[in-house]
Amino acid sequence: MSSAPDTQPPTATRVLVVDDDTFTARLISAHLTGAGYVVTSVADGVDALEAVRANPVDLLVTDWQMPRMDGLALCRAVRALTGVPWVYTIVLTACDGSDAVVEAFDAGADDYLAKPFDARELLARVRAGERIVRLERDLQRRTTETRQAHTELQLAFRELAKVNRQLDRLALTDDLTGLANRRAAMTSLDRTWDESARHDDPLAIIVLDIDHFKHINDTLGHAVGDLTLQRVATALRDTARAYDGAARIGGEEFLVLCPRSSEAQAAVLAERLRDVVAALTIETDQSCFHVTVSVGVAERVPGMRSPDDLLRAADTALYEAKGRGRNRIERASALAAEPVLPDAG
Ligand code: GH3
Ligand code: MG
Ligand code: MG
Repeated sequence: MSSAPDTQPPTATRVLVVDDDTFTARLISAHLTGAGYVVTSVADGVDALEAVRANPVDLLVTDWQMPRMDGLALCRAVRALTGVPWVYTIVLTACDGSDAVVEAFDAGADDYLAKPFDARELLARVRAGERIVRLERDLQRRTTETRQAHTELQLAFRELAKVNRQLDRLALTDDLTGLANRRAAMTSLDRTWDESARHDDPLAIIVLDIDHFKHINDTLGHAVGDLTLQRVATALRDTARAYDGAARIGGEEFLVLCPRSSEAQAAVLAERLRDVVAALTIETDQSCFHVTVSVGVAERVPGMRSPDDLLRAADTALYEAKGRGRNRIERASALAAEPVLPDAG
């Protein structure tokens, strides 16, 4: 077996010459080496197959008639190899005639050359094979790159979808309390309103507003105000869990949806919410205090055209509760024609 000198550039095309006739093998090798190819040679198909497996080559120039494994058997074996780069195969044959040519191509040969060969023709055919190998390698590289890009793109899409879900969640959540924010609450109200109208189910809502909250901010500081909002929010959420939960729809204003509930049923929950908030003890390093909420309850009734009408009715009831002394609930249906104005605080 002869090897090409180490001085060959690594990108040079690698050719394996397979011929049991040492003279022919040397002659072919000399022509190819002279033309700049990296040439290896072996004496039969068995060794050739071994060599291709061990050190991938670009082109195979093989004799047909050889001991142990002939050129066509080698072509078939090389075509069946997996895990090695594709090889361009030229069969050298003394047998001329179209039957031999067809047989060689059927075995997987890419080209053939009749013996005795002309050196220029040999090199021309090897150059043609080299162009095909380059195209094939290029295609392989692009396919690999496309697959990698596809995988990276899929990962990026997955990441993007995750971030979008997080953003969606953030866009609908109130930072301070973790409750649904006004936007989410209004979307829920619209949806619940539509469902209730479609099925002709009752729908009630509860709005709650912390009493004298400004006073807490003013006397104990904004941070204690924030803490108060968080404590009230948690209490409302835990108590209204069985309903649609609570939402923070304003500074110190909350909303609870009560689908399939009448105003009277919602008023029972409203009373419980008011009680739960009043029972809270809010403690800080410097203070320990209680808060109360005023509550308005309203139900969807004929004549209301939109969720806004329902909200307005509940707000009016809440306003009434403030006016009647705070820490109490008022029902929209029970409002006097002329609501009492809230006191100054
Ligand atoms: P009323 O009993 O009539 O509801 O009186 P109030 O003091 O609760 O109502 P008012 O509307 O006068 O004041 C509400 C205050 O809530 C004013 C505003 O600065 C404060 N506030 C709004 N959002 C926040 C917040 O996120 N954190 C804190 N700490 N305060 C807030
Ligand atoms: Mg208030
Ligand atoms: Mg308010």
